[in-house]
Amino acid sequence: MTKTVFVNCNLFVGNSEELLENAWFVVDNETGKLTAKGTGKVTITAEQAVDLNGQYVMSGLINAYTHVGLVNAAKDHYPETEILVTYKALKDLKSGLKGGVTYIISCGVPFDVDVKLKNMRDAYPFEGPGMRPAGMPISILGGHADQPLGENHELNAAHLINSPDDVRKAVREQFKKGAENVKLMDTGGIMSQGDQIDDTELSLEEMKMAVEEAHSKHMTVCAHAEGRLGIHYAVVVGVDSVEHGFYVSDEDIELMKKQGTFLSPTLIAGHQLAVYGKGKMTDFSYQKMCEHVDAFYAHVAKAIKSGVKLALGTDAGTFMNPLKNTAKELTELVRAGASNYQALHAAGLGSAELLKIDNEYGSLEEGRYADFLVLKANPLENVSAVEQDDKQVYQHGVRKF
Ligand SMILES: [Zn+2]
Repeated sequence: MTKTVFVNCNLFVGNSEELLENAWFVVDNETGKLTAKGTGKVTITAEQAVDLNGQYVMSGLINAYTHVGLVNAAKDHYPETEILVTYKALKDLKSGLKGGVTYIISCGVPFDVDVKLKNMRDAYPFEGPGMRPAGMPISILGGHADQPLGENHELNAAHLINSPDDVRKAVREQFKKGAENVKLMDTGGIMSQGDQIDDTELSLEEMKMAVEEAHSKHMTVCAHAEGRLGIHYAVVVGVDSVEHGFYVSDEDIELMKKQGTFLSPTLIAGHQLAVYGKGKMTDFSYQKMCEHVDAFYAHVAKAIKSGVKLALGTDAGTFMNPLKNTAKELTELVRAGASNYQALHAAGLGSAELLKIDNEYGSLEEGRYADFLVLKANPLENVSAVEQDDKQVYQHGVRKF
């Protein structure tokens, strides 16, 4: 069992606002886990030493809301086939890791490409974050994710359901394939044509069935929810996380706090559409985004201020919003009123707790995997430090970038 000691750094462990100056930490090369840390003189002998030259060390980013492999721009030029989504997913995963993302929750990928990649990963390794895949999402017929796919549009991006029984079958099918997360398209959305964001799509009974069935199998459930009533359904049935939350009510904020329901705002997805989307998507979608973007930030700001549990998600894979730019969400969370520490906590222990992997990921405490970033500037002073292009990225103690 050999060890590596990393010396001469400023260490943000992730479980408090404290920054350990002149710090060191030790990684077991076999397990990739952190075994000791301290400040000042190193008290442990190790076979290898790495001098981090006084730079800042923090946990790798955990992105709790992604769509790796999603094909947007290419759609008009080439049919969205399984091979195209797979090719793009592998590229997204590798560049995401370069961007500092060391773990993701996957929340809806066509052809179950994320599930299939995870299933084959031990035999055929590839570079990228650790992942909890969902595969195909669950949407109503005519709902947010009802999108034809394949060479001849013979397939669909989602399980199209019309009853609680359909939901039960869809969750079981995803479970059988190896999915670990269930994605519900609870309400209408910005990018879907023909619906409004406050269209309540899955019924209360359908949502309830999804949570009951998924939780009985230790799967997490996340819900795309933008309109007020749809968010309310998601909260009362007990999903693990509400995504977006454009019009979350004060009552639901209180209920989320009481239950420990996470909010994963994905502000960057809305920001990119509102700022750069004109002429790049249908006018219908662009208008919807412009109409709701201010209310989106205002409601998220209220939730942050109230102390709702935050995870960091970006909706990566949507317009001008690749996985590798995950760190930009930190800046948006701060713009919506989060402190630097709150934003960093969302990207670390917040998302890790949502995934129920916080005993192994999300902070740089002893016993956790050494997934960490090395930065030139202090992220506790300015979170945009994490956006540094040439930051170092370590996964299980091994330098990847
Ligand atoms: Zn969504």
